[in-house]
Amino acid sequence: MGQGGIHRRVAWPVMSFPQQRLRRLRRTPALRDLVAETRLSMGDLITPLFVREGADEPREIASLPGVMQHTRESLRKEVSELAALGIPGVILFGVPATKDPHGLESFADDGVVQQAIRTLKDAHPDIVVVTDVCLCEYTDHGHCGLLDDAGGISNDETLDVLRRIAVSHAEAGADVVAPSGMIDGMVGAIRGALDEEGLQRVAILSYAVKYASAFYGPFREAAEGAPAFGDRRSHQMDPANAREALREAALDVDEGADALMVKPALGYLDVVRSVRERFPELPLAAYNVSGEYAMVKAAAANGWLDERAAVLETLTGIRRAGADLVVTYHAKDAAAWLQR
Ligand SMILES: [Zn+2]
Repeated sequence: MGQGGIHRRVAWPVMSFPQQRLRRLRRTPALRDLVAETRLSMGDLITPLFVREGADEPREIASLPGVMQHTRESLRKEVSELAALGIPGVILFGVPATKDPHGLESFADDGVVQQAIRTLKDAHPDIVVVTDVCLCEYTDHGHCGLLDDAGGISNDETLDVLRRIAVSHAEAGADVVAPSGMIDGMVGAIRGALDEEGLQRVAILSYAVKYASAFYGPFREAAEGAPAFGDRRSHQMDPANAREALREAALDVDEGADALMVKPALGYLDVVRSVRERFPELPLAAYNVSGEYAMVKAAAANGWLDERAAVLETLTGIRRAGADLVVTYHAKDAAAWLQR
């Protein structure tokens, strides 16, 4: 930007080195802390948890070291530990014992997630229970909706199932339902169904902006929800697009979303920032996804990264970009580090 012209800024104090020394405020840990622009606390973190139907003991997920497929009992114990660390919420994913083309277990009253919600709410009424609302863990084809004859997702028929899933989670005691399938109209359909059933108290956190990302790989092992054929590019967003993210978010706000989410986080911090700026009044979450977690864990296991420093820097970066909440598999470790 040259001198003069219409872009010339006025009244900028032109005082430079040696009067200006930005290192002054970086001199001690206390000074640095005093002027920190972004705070990270355990209160900002949500832990994803997996619960497996019919499991006798928890099972570690190979590609997500430290993350388990829980039994209902081990899930309850885990949530006690998370609550003691000051983590306010969890998001539940279920792995059913049986799958079928229509994902019938997804809205069963005694389904794996519905039972888990009841168990958690009995033991910890205060913890915020968010549930993932999608079909991919429950369909034998692994897609996020009902299929039409051509093998594509039938959008409007899928909405009927999403309504039933959300109502079943809410009736079991979920505080927040989080539709994740990027099905057009999902937020409005779910809001309508909840209200019709007298479940106005239940909030919707929409996965409003979810990209077709390569970084979901380990999650698919955890949730056993990989598509049997094809991919999710006909409903999840193209990683090339940012303006479209604002259209997705605007539609969900219009349909009654109480909070928004961007997923994944790290490759999409520009999107987190632009959704934050366009919708400053809504809480915004970002999902630090399984592949992002697995990369840090793998590098740390090899001694290539300082895990604690890398995790806290990453989570702070997601907050700095504009997320109020971070959904992350690092939550438990991070909370323990932040407590110290
Ligand atoms: Zn899905």
